[in-house]
Amino acid sequence: MFALKFIKHHRVFASTIYRNNVYSHKVLSNNVSDNHLNVKIMGEDLKFPYIWLRDNCQCEQCYHKSAKSRILDWLKFDLNITTINVLQKENVLEITWSDGHKSIFNHSWLKFRSFTAENQKRYTDTIYKPEQVSWQGSDFSNICSKHDYKEVINADQALYNWLYNLSVYGVALIENTPDSERAIDAVVERIGFTKQTHYGVKFIVQNIANTSNVAYLSSNLQMHTDLPYYEYCPGVNLLHCLVQTASQGGENLLSDCHFVADYMKKNHPGEYKLLTEVEIEWSDVGVENDNEFFKLYRSPVICLDKNDQITRISFSIPQRGSQILTDLDTVVLWYKAHGLFLELNHRFSAKFKTKPGDILVFNNIRLLHGRNAYEDNSSNIRKLIGAYVDWDEIYSRLRCLTVKQNIDVSFIKIDVLTSMLKPKHRRYIVVQDRCFMNDVLSYIDITRHLALYL
Ligand SMILES: [Zn+2]
Repeated sequence: MFALKFIKHHRVFASTIYRNNVYSHKVLSNNVSDNHLNVKIMGEDLKFPYIWLRDNCQCEQCYHKSAKSRILDWLKFDLNITTINVLQKENVLEITWSDGHKSIFNHSWLKFRSFTAENQKRYTDTIYKPEQVSWQGSDFSNICSKHDYKEVINADQALYNWLYNLSVYGVALIENTPDSERAIDAVVERIGFTKQTHYGVKFIVQNIANTSNVAYLSSNLQMHTDLPYYEYCPGVNLLHCLVQTASQGGENLLSDCHFVADYMKKNHPGEYKLLTEVEIEWSDVGVENDNEFFKLYRSPVICLDKNDQITRISFSIPQRGSQILTDLDTVVLWYKAHGLFLELNHRFSAKFKTKPGDILVFNNIRLLHGRNAYEDNSSNIRKLIGAYVDWDEIYSRLRCLTVKQNIDVSFIKIDVLTSMLKPKHRRYIVVQDRCFMNDVLSYIDITRHLALYL
């Protein structure tokens, strides 16, 4: 109701802000306040650098709408661009630039991109990547969500829920998968496509005596990440259990290295530092399907970004090479840190035995996984079908679903909004009347999300 009131109340206002050209044409002013525009949008005082506004002009000479891409010619871009006129109307900001070009920005579009720390955090968590939540073994039953195969295949909401949980906790289980080696294909296709490796598009995990990979043995499989010797390491591992062992053992061990790394940082900072700094050479050499391979990649066990956030974990005892390119003393200390890391991963791990029909899906660059030893017999041969998918594809699918379903920070969805409106007004939502929708949504403060596709 309140939204309707807002629509009826067409307050028409326009204010003109004149600015003088205060710039040197050689260098940008060092005075930040001279370099940006102050503007009040939907009650908030926001600032936008002139150079950014000009760079992001949405007119058809500067921006290709269907390609959603910037096309302005940067070789002709004036780094000292300034405005000669700024006009604020009800929903838009009109800027006339010193070179005569004119830009029109929708208020919602601008607000969605505002430079406030609060807005940037919200954008990061809702659109870029959901914030990850770390856990230890005792939390596992609470954090490992279960999803139905048919629902994931048929319903976007179920697909979103599965991928969202996977990205936040690094693990999520699909149940009730048909008993077929090809059943996993439909799950992968819901996301996009697999990451092919030298072990194939998919792989069968079964006990094989003279194998090219220790995962194909029934003995204890030490905790590890898969394929750390790939620079473009597979992001997510999907393991469909077709036949589980009836014997003792065969359980998966899973641990969240983000939890372990936090623990080490607090309690063993020296060892933590070594694992974040010393580059190890990960390697896999052999032949698979007549294809010779010689893979090497160097990285620390714990890879950090410039904010000290973990971007990737690489850990595998069988696939750790013997070349260590550091000094002798560091090598000895590194081994001690490596031993501690493995021990802590065991201490904080969850033990979990999948059943036929389960697809265990986990973040391969965050969790360590392992498997206890088991024994096959002639009528019971443990068999899993595995596939990899990259995080690029998963985050991409999540973002598409987020936009499609209008799931935002507060999880207020379009159907909730429409239910708040009188039936005669609902058609506006259905036909996606942009102005109407914006006004409604801005009122409840979720335009930041929907402005994405304005
Ligand atoms: Zn333009």
